[in-house]
Amino acid sequence: MIVITDAGNARFKVIQFDLSSRRNPRQAPIVLREELFLVTKQVLTDSSPVLRKRFESHPSSDVASPALRTEEDSISSMEIWLRVLHKTVIPDTYKVAIYEMWYLAAASENYQFDIKRLKTWFEEWYIQQKVDPYSFRQLLFPCWTFDHARGFLNATREAVYDSVGYIKEESPVKYSLPRFHLPYVVIQNLVSAKKSLRDNLEAALWEPIAQLLRAKCSCKVDTQYGYIHALEGTGGWPFHHLWPRASVTDILNRLSRFSYQAAPNACKRCRKNYEAIVESAVRTARCDFDGLCLDCMERSKPRPETDAEDYLKDNMPTVDDWSRPCRVQHGEPTWYHSFMGQREYRNVLLKNLRGRYPSRMR
Ligand SMILES: [Zn+2]
Ligand SMILES: [Zn+2]
Repeated sequence: MIVITDAGNARFKVIQFDLSSRRNPRQAPIVLREELFLVTKQVLTDSSPVLRKRFESHPSSDVASPALRTEEDSISSMEIWLRVLHKTVIPDTYKVAIYEMWYLAAASENYQFDIKRLKTWFEEWYIQQKVDPYSFRQLLFPCWTFDHARGFLNATREAVYDSVGYIKEESPVKYSLPRFHLPYVVIQNLVSAKKSLRDNLEAALWEPIAQLLRAKCSCKVDTQYGYIHALEGTGGWPFHHLWPRASVTDILNRLSRFSYQAAPNACKRCRKNYEAIVESAVRTARCDFDGLCLDCMERSKPRPETDAEDYLKDNMPTVDDWSRPCRVQHGEPTWYHSFMGQREYRNVLLKNLRGRYPSRMR
């Protein structure tokens, strides 16, 4: 028996099944492990409406076997929940692997434990994963579900910069708990953030070509050829073949190898510092998107019961600080792509802001 609290007055039995042992959903899974926990009945009944009912229907028994979806319990995740609820967390709980986050989320749903109660525990678990053993694909869902603003910002930033092709999340429990994943709209927002990044980068690299097309000098043809040839020579351009096959970081690293100078006898207009232009485009792209902000997402969620004016006021950024009321610092692209409300409202906010600070908006 695991003692959650010395003052325990009830025993809580948890059974962990091996879900992978099932060939089809109707087949009963094999029992992997059983554990009894010494707990306080009052804490459980206060924290879980499901367990309250369970205790009410079995008033004489001090063993509250789980009632719903028992096959989704894991011993470790239940121990974490019980310790958090009893305020008896021990350091060993921070050593669990990332897949337990899916079982913690499942227990929150099945027992109606308030997911916010795990926030502090998850913050510490996140810190203790020192060598960054988990990929952003696996961290997306836990950071979102446990409301970890910094972790979610980092994971979504990496999703945009380090994904090759389509942006995907990954569950380490595979087919066991398929209903626990990010809302699809989050992936859509990341895809649109990646597309904006590409559009901006493409426009910045295209600008010298556009200027040369408009030039009247005789050296423009050689200069334009030289610039395009050097861009292609980096292996990071043009994007249409490359974008589905390489990550943004990889493309930016290739572009940073760009090297080209116009011929010494070319006219002054042709003898621009093309290396500085490409370097600046790469630098801007590298810090273009900070990731998605959970606070901006929460604030901009559609709120039909709220007056439109109040909703707009709550979501009004300032041009100096797009993240003033947020837990993490970020720029405009994060604000823009984290917006979860109607596009019309986002347009109204940007229009208002441009009206107020016309000279300072890019
Ligand atoms: Zn020229
Ligand atoms: Zn924000």
